[in-house]
Amino acid sequence: MSEIFTGNFTQQEPIPEEGIEAAVAVMRHGRIHRYNLSKGEEGEAALLEQEFAAQIGAKYVLAVASGGAAMTTALRAAGVRPGDKVLSNAFTLAPVPGAIAAVGAVPVYVGVAEDLTIDLDDLEAKAGEASYLLLSHMRGHICDMDRLMAICDAAGIKVIEDCAHTMGAAWNGVPSGRFGIAGCYSCQTYKHVNSGEGGFLVTDDADLAARAIILSGSYMLYERHLAAPPPEAFEKVKYETPNISSRMDNLRAAILRPQLRQLDVNVDRWNDRYRTLEAGLDGTPGLTLIQRPEKERFVGSSFQFLLLDWAPARVKEVVERCLARGVELKWFGEPEPKGFTSRYDSWRYAPSEPMHKTDRILAGIVDMRVPLTFSVEDCQLIARIIRAEVGAVYQAA
Ligand SMILES: *Cc1c(COP(=O)(O)O)cnc(C)c1O
Repeated sequence: MSEIFTGNFTQQEPIPEEGIEAAVAVMRHGRIHRYNLSKGEEGEAALLEQEFAAQIGAKYVLAVASGGAAMTTALRAAGVRPGDKVLSNAFTLAPVPGAIAAVGAVPVYVGVAEDLTIDLDDLEAKAGEASYLLLSHMRGHICDMDRLMAICDAAGIKVIEDCAHTMGAAWNGVPSGRFGIAGCYSCQTYKHVNSGEGGFLVTDDADLAARAIILSGSYMLYERHLAAPPPEAFEKVKYETPNISSRMDNLRAAILRPQLRQLDVNVDRWNDRYRTLEAGLDGTPGLTLIQRPEKERFVGSSFQFLLLDWAPARVKEVVERCLARGVELKWFGEPEPKGFTSRYDSWRYAPSEPMHKTDRILAGIVDMRVPLTFSVEDCQLIARIIRAEVGAVYQAA
């Protein structure tokens, strides 16, 4: 009898009790809108921003309604105008090119390297084409940030980081999101903290922060923020910045605050699971593991491997055989997007030329979520199943 896994790949952990109690308190008093405060009250949303600013070492933090809203707001606040070109990853999730499209700009796709980071040679080649890079640390893989920043600084490119999969991660000791002019995070259920929907924008730039706060829908109540620039920074921008409402509310902020305090502990728990999967799959014939650089502190909330240069039918067979044993894998090489879109050629509102090197890698990427509801033993079992099924299909080839 072959082993079967019965866990649920989309089941996250419950909200910490402390967060549930804080949320109930907000519902009891009813002041859910972030600017609806009683005398002397600071409010959950403003406190959340202040705490995340301290945690990440940023001067200014704005909490917003989603990761996508954080990116759109950052692009607009940084001065991206309709028709501008914005460099971004050919391999990322749909809200990334979507944020570029939302400001009327045009994505210029940069390829993916074999370690699943942005292809820095391709970035260097395209550096002259745009003044902005929306860099997605897709699936938590952080590229050589020293080289990336050198390329962008030399070309005068402003970098905005999409840290949806790197909240809690770092490169060479610097938190992900702190390299460019702004960092964007998601608090959506499948990311590293869970408020259903939500996001953060972090920056050290007072002008960008002031514009972002007005854009998010602060009306003229920006003085109620605790991680915002001083009132002078708003003097000019408050008349020339539109209100595009995308605020965080006190209810979601209440459940996020205790989760931020647990983040570092959870990063270690995720990485125990990641390293278990990695060890269990090491040496599987035909399967390529992704090497993690020493300078990268990653968050193993998902796991990828490559079936590089496998015939599509065989990759499909692996996915089907694993599913039959309860292991849900995603294949980014799937020609028709199902459930999600993560490849440049699915976003036809922004036309692109075929990218052959990238297509070869996309065709081999297999991905799996690793929720914290999985135990280390679960991950050992999952690795045994994948190892056996990859082995069976590989040997039959
Ligand atoms: C989830 C995600 C985002 C942001 O998503 P929202 O649903 O808008 O919060 C951004 N980039 C990547 C790579 C993501 O996976």
